[in-house]
Amino acid sequence: MGTSFVREWCAAAAGLLRELGYLLFPRGCAGCDAPDEVLCSRCESKFHHCIPFRLHPGTLHLGFACALYRGVAREAILNWKDHGDEECDGAFVTALNRLFDDLLAFCRQSGEQFPQAAVPNDILIVPAPSSASSLRRRGRSQLAPLAKALCSHANARGMQTTVAPLLIVRAHSKSVETNGADQRAQRARRTICINERATHDKEMDACRTVILIDDIVTTGATINRCATVLAEHGYTVFTALALAYTPSKHGYMVA
Ligand SMILES: [Zn+2]
Repeated sequence: MGTSFVREWCAAAAGLLRELGYLLFPRGCAGCDAPDEVLCSRCESKFHHCIPFRLHPGTLHLGFACALYRGVAREAILNWKDHGDEECDGAFVTALNRLFDDLLAFCRQSGEQFPQAAVPNDILIVPAPSSASSLRRRGRSQLAPLAKALCSHANARGMQTTVAPLLIVRAHSKSVETNGADQRAQRARRTICINERATHDKEMDACRTVILIDDIVTTGATINRCATVLAEHGYTVFTALALAYTPSKHGYMVA
């Protein structure tokens, strides 16, 4: 009996148990636990915003988020991201697509604040990468369905977008590990690199403008690193879209 057969069987059994679980224990809202909802309308409305936030001025000026990362919005994202609540995909796809439409409108209105007044027609949608260990733990890239749906959404508006996994998190070798603050600094610097395999794709190579997407932007360190790596490889990062943003002393909201 091959290992692939065993794996398939286990996946099927897990799926069946999950379905059975839903029957026995109907689900609650991912944000507030209200009965029989994936994301209730009150929690869902927390993702209706278009919150601009400032990023590193050298590479990327402004990002936009659907929600502030707090309360029920935070709860819903954590349940989706870290507790396997994949049923939230639909709500977050809708939120990110709406944010994209808001971005188009925002660019038309505020050319001064946002130097590139028009969104270019050809865009690569680049998800912030997850580490191999996160991918293993979650069993998927939680941003993948959002990136794919955003592409379809933009293309339906006459744009030409492609999902481009241009970034990867590289596992860092044990030999470079030092201790304490040095190690943490190294870890922060280490990981996000260009995905050479994706950059060789002909379709992606023709386009050099990128919109980054991520789920949560806290200090902006990750998204800034993504933007810097892309800029170093000749890409123009137009903006970053996130589900939620945490205002802090490191980054601040524009509006
Ligand atoms: Zn709710």
